[in-house]
Amino acid sequence: MNKERIWLSSPHMGGNEQKYVQEAFDTNWVAPLGPNVNGFEQDLENYLNTKVHVAALSAGTGAIHLALIQLGVQQNDTVLCQSFTFAATANPITYLGAKPIFIDSEEETWNIDPVLLEKAIKYEIKLGEKPKAILVVHLYGMPAKMDEIKVISTKYSIPIIEDAAEALGSTYKNQKCGILGDFGILSFNGNKIITTSGGGALVCNTKEAKDKTIYLSTQARDQAPHYQHTEIGFNYRMSNIVAGIGRGQMEVIDLRVKQRRANFEFYKNAFRTLDNLKILEEPTEFYSNRWLTTILTDSFQTREKLRLALDKENIEARPLWKPMHLQPVFSECKAYTNGVSEELFDKGLCLPSGSNLTQSDLKRVVNVIKSCI
Ligand SMILES: *Cc1c(COP(=O)(O)O)cnc(C)c1O
Repeated sequence: MNKERIWLSSPHMGGNEQKYVQEAFDTNWVAPLGPNVNGFEQDLENYLNTKVHVAALSAGTGAIHLALIQLGVQQNDTVLCQSFTFAATANPITYLGAKPIFIDSEEETWNIDPVLLEKAIKYEIKLGEKPKAILVVHLYGMPAKMDEIKVISTKYSIPIIEDAAEALGSTYKNQKCGILGDFGILSFNGNKIITTSGGGALVCNTKEAKDKTIYLSTQARDQAPHYQHTEIGFNYRMSNIVAGIGRGQMEVIDLRVKQRRANFEFYKNAFRTLDNLKILEEPTEFYSNRWLTTILTDSFQTREKLRLALDKENIEARPLWKPMHLQPVFSECKAYTNGVSEELFDKGLCLPSGSNLTQSDLKRVVNVIKSCI
C-alpha cells in the first residue's frame, strides 16, 4: 500500500517563483523593499479590485496589528472578535493592551453571528464601553454574512476588519473577500491557498492608509535626512525575496481556487450516501475558495475515530479550530456564545485539501473514511 504522507495543505509552486527571486538576486534587491514588493502589491490590487491599496507585510498577524492601530485601538479598549478562528486573529488585540470580546458563530457559514454581534454591541454600550472594532473572519474560505454585519457596523459606527487570511479568491456577492471592510488582511503563510513561505498584506481603502501602513511597518521614520521618530514603529515590511515568490504565485491563483474547489466536489460526491457526514454548502451568492474541505460528523467519538484512522494511514487531518472563548489564554475574556462553535469543534474535521493532491490521494482519504463509517 502506498503510505506516502498526505498533508492537510502544503505549498504548491506555480513555476515562475524562482524567476522573480532570481531577478532580485541579479539586481541585488535583497531587502525589505524593491521591484518585487511593488509588483506583488500591484498584482494583489489588480486581483482584488483596482480601487484598493495593498501594503505587503511580513505576516497576516502584523497586518491585523497595524489595522487595529489605525482604527485607534488603545489600552483597555474592547474589540469584538469572531471566537471560531485561529489565535492569530485575536492575538494582536492583546498586543495593544486592548481586550477581545468573543462572539460565537451562526450555522450557515460558521462565521460571526450577526444577531449575537448586535446583542453584544447593545449590551456593551449600555455598560458604557462601546467596542472599537469588529474583527470578522471568513473561516476556511467561506465568506461571512457581510451585508448583515455591515448594517450593524454602520448603525453603531464601529469599523470592520476583515480577516481574509484563509479566503483569498473567495467572493461575496461578486466582490472579493478582503475588500469588504474598513481594512482587510491577507496571509501568505506556508499552508494558505498561495504562499510566500511567510507573509501577509493589509488591504486599505485609501492611499493615505497604505502609506501609513508602510510607514508604521518600517519603524515609523519621519521625513528627515537623519533618523527621526515621533511615533513607535514596527519591523513588519515584506522582503523583496519573499515578494518574488508571491508574484509567481499570483500567476496561478485562479487555478489554485479551481483545484481546491475540485477537491471539495470530489469529497462531496464521495460522501453523498453517508448521511452521518455533513459538509458546508455555500449560501446563494457566497463563493468559497474551499481553502480547506471540512466535514461534520455526528459526534466527538466519530470525529476522533476518523482522525485516528487517517493518521494511521499517514494522512493528516485536523479538528476544526478550537474556539477562542475555550482557550486557556483567553479564559478571562468576555464571550457571547450560543453553542455553535463548541459543537463544530467537537464534531468537525479538516480533510487534506492541497491544490497539489492527486486523484489517488483523494481516493485514499475517502477510502479510509468510508471504511470507518
Ligand atoms: C493564517 C491566519 C492568520 C495569520 O496569518 P500569518 O500570516 O500566519 O500571520 C490570521 N487569521 C487566520 C484566520 C489565519 O488562518
